Amino acid sequence: MEPYLIITNLNDFIFCPRSIYFHNLYGQYSTKTYHRKPQIAGLIAHRTVDEGTYSTKLDQITGLRVYSERYRLCGVIDLYDRKKKALIERKREIKVIYPGYRYQLYAQYYCLLEMGYEVSSLALHSLVDNQRYPIPIPDNETLQEFEDLLRQMRAYDLHAPYKPNREKCLTCIYSHLCDYSLAD
Ligand code: SF4
Repeated sequence: MEPYLIITNLNDFIFCPRSIYFHNLYGQYSTKTYHRKPQIAGLIAHRTVDEGTYSTKLDQITGLRVYSERYRLCGVIDLYDRKKKALIERKREIKVIYPGYRYQLYAQYYCLLEMGYEVSSLALHSLVDNQRYPIPIPDNETLQEFEDLLRQMRAYDLHAPYKPNREKCLTCIYSHLCDYSLAD
């Protein structure tokens, strides 16, 4: 049986498949050993979610653990508004809607559906400037892309030849640990 994938790893994988290796390797250590300033700011922004302190409204569920047996996925959603049937993922600051952000939302969406929740809208929310970005519910084509991504993740071989992207290496929190890094 296929192992479960962690939803946050979808974004990591799209950024750089090798980063998941470091994420898992160093996940047991204090994040202070490798996080840089933007990541620390992002963590603080998310702490309210992880500690379930964002909302006391009964209609708003935060920090819910979700899973999908069909897609073998698990993770934690940021915010689900039961009344509006809206799933929202907040980031500290969104300047670009990266594909990884969308795939994370889709993964949460399919998990919620499988768990019996109704979801009629998806959105990303940028906390710094309080901007909300609606994301369309995935259609068949998007679903195919999503399933392809899961297949690629499961088939990925860390030892296969890899061509790093310097722009990504420059912003990668693992650049000083990675022997493929082009950040220097
Ligand atoms: S330093 Fe570059 S190659 Fe290494 S994990 Fe980061 S983005 Fe990937």
